[in-house]
Amino acid sequence: MSTASLAPSLSLDQLNVADEDAFVALLDGIYEHSPWIARRAFALRSAGGFASLAALKHAMAGVVREAALDEQLGLIRAHPELAGKAMVAKSLTAESTNEQNKAGLTNCTPDEFARLQQLNADYNTRFGWPFILAVRGPRGDGLSRQQIIDTFARRLNGHPDIERAECLRNIHRIAEIRLNDKFGVVPTLGNQVWDWAESLARFSDPGFAENSQLTVLYLTEAHRAAAAQLADWMRECGFDEVGIDAVGNVVGVYHGEANGQTEEPPRLLTGSHYDTVRNGGKYDGRLGIFVPMACVRELKRQGRRLKHGIEVIGFSEEEGQRYKATFLGSSALVGRFDPAWLDQADADGVVLRDLMRDAGLPGTIEAIQALQRDPARYLGFIEVHIEQGPVLNELDLPLGIVTSINGSLRYVGEVRGLASHAGTTPMNRRRDAAAAVAELILYVEERAGAVPEVVGTVGQLQVPNGSINVIPGRCRFSLDLRATTDAARDALDADVRARLAEICERRGVSFTLERTEAAAAAPSDAAWQSRWEAAVETLGLPVHRMPSGAGHDAMKLHQAMPQAMLFQRGLNLGISHNPLEAISNDDTELCVQAFLALLDRL
Ligand SMILES: [Zn+2]
Repeated sequence: MSTASLAPSLSLDQLNVADEDAFVALLDGIYEHSPWIARRAFALRSAGGFASLAALKHAMAGVVREAALDEQLGLIRAHPELAGKAMVAKSLTAESTNEQNKAGLTNCTPDEFARLQQLNADYNTRFGWPFILAVRGPRGDGLSRQQIIDTFARRLNGHPDIERAECLRNIHRIAEIRLNDKFGVVPTLGNQVWDWAESLARFSDPGFAENSQLTVLYLTEAHRAAAAQLADWMRECGFDEVGIDAVGNVVGVYHGEANGQTEEPPRLLTGSHYDTVRNGGKYDGRLGIFVPMACVRELKRQGRRLKHGIEVIGFSEEEGQRYKATFLGSSALVGRFDPAWLDQADADGVVLRDLMRDAGLPGTIEAIQALQRDPARYLGFIEVHIEQGPVLNELDLPLGIVTSINGSLRYVGEVRGLASHAGTTPMNRRRDAAAAVAELILYVEERAGAVPEVVGTVGQLQVPNGSINVIPGRCRFSLDLRATTDAARDALDADVRARLAEICERRGVSFTLERTEAAAAAPSDAAWQSRWEAAVETLGLPVHRMPSGAGHDAMKLHQAMPQAMLFQRGLNLGISHNPLEAISNDDTELCVQAFLALLDRL
């Protein structure tokens, strides 16, 4: 067992007054056999010292990111293989012995041991360095041997550049946990959120639950159980009012301090969704409910009331998985719940109105319309969400500030040419529909790539009844255009459509293009965005501003009140809508601390 976590052997003050050699000595063993990292981090220490442990971690990760390639490879190669020869010969560093012990690697069955040896050999042949995994895991208390073997097998197929970066990120995670041990730091708020997410994931729909997959579609038994669980936890946290509303939103209110006035001061509104995509992750949406819950729990524990009340909402539906309509939960709050939605049927013919009634909800448009919030009674809406992308992960940043939720346009289109013989039609007489779309795809890539914060994708491509020896006569495609502002989106849209017309004209083919969706961009409110920025700065972390490529509940609330979002880094390259979606307890701790800092300054 580790003894390092029993008592702190190091404090930030010690590091901040130490001279260079002492500084390097104090951080010995944080990065395996690589004192150069601490030495270069020393040069980054400002006159006032490192503002926080998070700032120190970030500085050291930055040193590695800026290092030369052979230095990075040297760092990776300084690590032992998992369950490798060094472990068997008991020649690991104390830190590595502790980690491999905690992950149970010293207790491998002969089969597991043989499998790990094979993986080590295959990995080394492919990449030329040892496989690095922070075996203490995202919660810090150890991955199972099966999780380790599965991750090993998965990463064996990665691209070398991506895999090298992933090894370095795991090394930073290993360093983070070693630092926590040295500093005697336990991220208790982050652990609380992490544990809630793990526990809530025990509710999953039939057909998925059996395979340990997480799927919670609107108003299924698992969905209702998850809502009841959230409501219970909110009560335990100390919310003053907790309830489930007419669309299944879980609503908790923590009142502000009594000010002797009859009129309650405006509340802060926050939250995110608890439904999931099919076989999704445990944190998408849910993180944005748990983080403010942890804050309220903390306020209650300290016996504190803020001047303003906090209303936390677990939105019942955001993902649009069961019905064609989407954002059912947040639409109701802004008076945009379309009465026609109640008549929609799901794939099994279950009409929404009937489903609501079976779930014990009123199922009437009047009850839903009554949920509309009066913007005058709210300060604004803020939402925490996992990033669902690779950006923060690549920058070694735990948190990012959202500048705007992208506006989007979606189309389905078809180009029509002439299906003719692939052998007899000369190249200059062809009317190739697929070649025309191929040209369009390359243009979308070039045009969207030429300006920042605009993206364009052709995600679906099909040659109906295509044959190997026939020139494509038809080609169907989809088009998804997004941008941080409506102006940028519309400029991209106009260029892409003009180019499509030009391509088809030149090639002598025709086209149809049908718009299937248009969503306006939701730029963050300047004042709320700067509150998030100030909160992140109090943690000693740099402010990184970024757009949100995905849609969120905040997009709906945007229609009624000012809003701004905070992103938390996702692990595993930021993958989301996937069981590999992951967050660390330390990042989550910072996220809760940022939320608390924002509340403090209200
Ligand atoms: Zn989400």
